[in-house]
This record gives sequence, C-alpha cells and structure tokens, in this order.
Amino acid sequence: MAVYSHSRLSSYENCPRQFEYRYVQKLETEREGIEAFVGKRVHEVLERLYHHLRRHARPPSLRQVLERFNKDWGILWHDKIAIVRKEHDTDHYQAQGRSCLENYYRSQYPFDQEETVAVEHTVQFPLDPAGRYRMRGIIDRIARTGPGAYEVHDYKTGRYLPPTARFETDRQLALYQIGLERTYPDVERVELVWHYLHFNRTIRSRRSPEQLDTLQTQTMARIEEIETASEYPAKPSRLCEWCDYRDVCPDAKLPKEASSGLPPAEAARPGTAAEPAASAPAEPEPDSDSTPGPESQLRLI
Ligand code: SF4
Repeated sequence: MAVYSHSRLSSYENCPRQFEYRYVQKLETEREGIEAFVGKRVHEVLERLYHHLRRHARPPSLRQVLERFNKDWGILWHDKIAIVRKEHDTDHYQAQGRSCLENYYRSQYPFDQEETVAVEHTVQFPLDPAGRYRMRGIIDRIARTGPGAYEVHDYKTGRYLPPTARFETDRQLALYQIGLERTYPDVERVELVWHYLHFNRTIRSRRSPEQLDTLQTQTMARIEEIETASEYPAKPSRLCEWCDYRDVCPDAKLPKEASSGLPPAEAARPGTAAEPAASAPAEPEPDSDSTPGPESQLRLI
C-alpha cells in the first residue's frame, strides 16, 4: 500500500479525478501556480534563516533575508508559472512573498522564544500497529519550549484565513503531532502553531489523546476507501482554475475567457517588487489546507 500524506488524502477528497491524474496515472505537468511558487520560496528562505541561526547563534538581518528571497525568485522563475488571478502580476506576488517574510521576521525577532529542534523535517509513521496504513509529512519547524513540550509550526503564505473553528479539527498538523510523538520519545505535550504570514496572525491549538485516536481511525478509513476505489469521478469546482490538470481534464470548470493561466511572454520574468497589496481579495482563495489548491501543492508527496 502507498505511503499517504495529508496532500494525497486531500487530493482525493477534493477531486478524485485529480487524484487519478496525479497519483494513479502519474501525469507529469510543468505547470506551477504562482501561489505555490511564492510559498516554496518563502519556506526555503525561512529554512535558511534557521540554519543560519544555528550556525552563527544570531539571525541574519532582515535585509539579507529579503535579498535572498529576491535572488531565489529570479533564479528559479520559469515560464510555466501560471497566474489565475489576472488582476495581479508577478510583481504583486513577489511583494506578497516579501511581506510574508517581513511580517514573520519582525514578529519572531530575535528568534529565541523557543529552541528550534528541526526545520523541514520529514516524519514517517504507521497509523496502525501492523504498519499497514503509513503516513508521511514534512513539518516546517519543530520547536521545544521546555522538557517534553514541543510545538509543530506551519507557515501559510496564502491570502485566505480560515475560520477559527477550522483549526480545532485541522488534520494536517494533528497528523504531524502523531508523527512527532513517535519520533521523539520525550514528547509529553504538543502545541500546533499556524503562522498566517500575510495576515501576521499566529493560531495555536492542541489535540487530546482521544481526538488523535479518532483522527487515526478516520484517516485509516479514508485510506481504505481510496485503496479500494475503482473509479475516480471528476468533482469540478472553482478550484479547477488552479488545478495542474485543467488543460487535460474534459470536466474542468473554467471561466469562458480563461486561457491556460500562464502569463504573457512579456510578463514572464519578474521585475522589481512593488508594494504589497493593502487588502485581502474580495473572495477567499481556495482553501489551501484541505484541498490541492495553490499552497497545498508545496508539500505533495
Ligand atoms: S480540472 Fe477540476 S475536475 Fe478536472 S481534475 Fe482538476 S479539479 Fe478535478
């Protein structure tokens, strides 16, 4: 049986056809949504920041952090990056990434609130004693605040802030908690921490042992359902606009005027960053936690 991840489960839940393209047919696609591109660059720079902190016992300057981001952006930019929201250009998204980093830097400086144990750490663990249902995930940052007290940190760069209640039932970080508890034998307490960088908001939550037991049971049931599926029906939605397979899927639900979402040639290279957008979009972007929308594609396994 395949090793599952939160993204793999979410892909099936959101649209079984997309799951089929990605995980059954393993269709290759060069298309990359700009939201995912921004998220990757921000995650990489924050990973570097914590490595720097460990090596030099002090953080890099904010100027160094932003310069690194701009440099990586230019190096890694490619012409298959797709922008769905036509009202924004590449400069807008580059500025959004810079703003996320600046918000995080200013809120965390001097980065000594807790001990960072690991960054971009892969956890792999079974959900059942027999090891039939296996999970894998990458934790953005693991921190220790005292003996036996750990935190699972997750960075979000999207422009959608879910309602607070959502964090009480979030699956992704709760699964990471299970992985953490099986990796570090001294774990006694775990706090789940989301950093919504665009909003400069930090959200915290905890899970009881009973909640984790229920989560394991539900996750195993979902995996069993996927493993025994013989059909993968399309589930068109607004998220089709961000789907990597929208150009091959006959059921893609796209606005009439929608092209492939790729930017015009003259806009294909990023320029100097503009000022960050002052306000959130009129309607939320796709939920990047529970769907294979823009940001969740960062951690596809
Ligand atoms: S384009 Fe829409 S319906 Fe087709 S696979 Fe993607 S999400 Fe599913």
